[in-house]
Amino acid sequence: MYYHVNGELVDSSNASVSVRDRGFMYGDAAFETLRAYGGSIFEWEAHLARLKRTCETLAMPDAVPGDLANRVEETLAANDLEDAYVRVSVTRGEQPGKLTPHPTVEPTIVVIVASLPRGGLDGRSIWDEPAVLRTVKTRRIPDEALPADIKTHNYLNGILARLELRRTQRGDTIADEALIRDLNGYITEGTTSNVFFITDGTLCTPSLDASILPGITRSVVLSLAQKVNIPVETDHYRIEDIHAANEVFLTNTTWELRPVTTLDGIEIETGAMTDRLIRLFNQRIEQFY
Ligand code: PLP
Repeated sequence: MYYHVNGELVDSSNASVSVRDRGFMYGDAAFETLRAYGGSIFEWEAHLARLKRTCETLAMPDAVPGDLANRVEETLAANDLEDAYVRVSVTRGEQPGKLTPHPTVEPTIVVIVASLPRGGLDGRSIWDEPAVLRTVKTRRIPDEALPADIKTHNYLNGILARLELRRTQRGDTIADEALIRDLNGYITEGTTSNVFFITDGTLCTPSLDASILPGITRSVVLSLAQKVNIPVETDHYRIEDIHAANEVFLTNTTWELRPVTTLDGIEIETGAMTDRLIRLFNQRIEQFY
């Protein structure tokens, strides 16, 4: 495999960043997970905008290189990949000394890719297995401490939530995703996904001010639903709201739409509206081929 590190294509076995890179040392970095279908990046502009916004919040507004799209294309081409997972990281760069970061430090820019074909019988993704979702006790770090709407290398909140799933596992099944609430008990999102549920024909998902990452897939799903006049509601929800739902699914770039079959031990059918949204999403993807 070839990766792109600081403007150079390098063999993945030689791809490295400094042990003093602040992304490694402190999680002082922005990233995006993207997906290529038929050689083109899905929702590139939205991902680029979110990456830039994260970098602005981290006070490194010029860190995203102007030729980032070319770097991604070159990496896909070097690996002969059309359907791929792509990850772009922008770190603050190497810590020049022991003390505070030097203002002229150069960002580190890394593009890594992996083959990610679409599989499954009806054109769904290889993450087609429905998910088991479980509410955890681990709460979302409040926005006032670490804003949820930026995508940084700091994923320990979600990692601790996933570790809680393992620690408190009953029987053989470890849940696929943890549902995280904020300190007031409102639903936020999964550790790497946004959550949707359907109640009485309305598609519901926590609103952007509910301590969530504004998922690109979330926004695609909302606009697909609005186009076909599915009633949509975004709000602050409690666990009881989602427990009473008829259908539940998760979204992220790699999973696309992933139905939830079990939530906190409650069995849920994959219903007609989830299926319909998956079909609409698939139609969007088919345009790439
Ligand atoms: N929420 C969190 C915390 C995530 O890490 C992700 C993606 O990794 C998402 C939501 C979904 O975002 P997207 O649809 O842009 O992949």
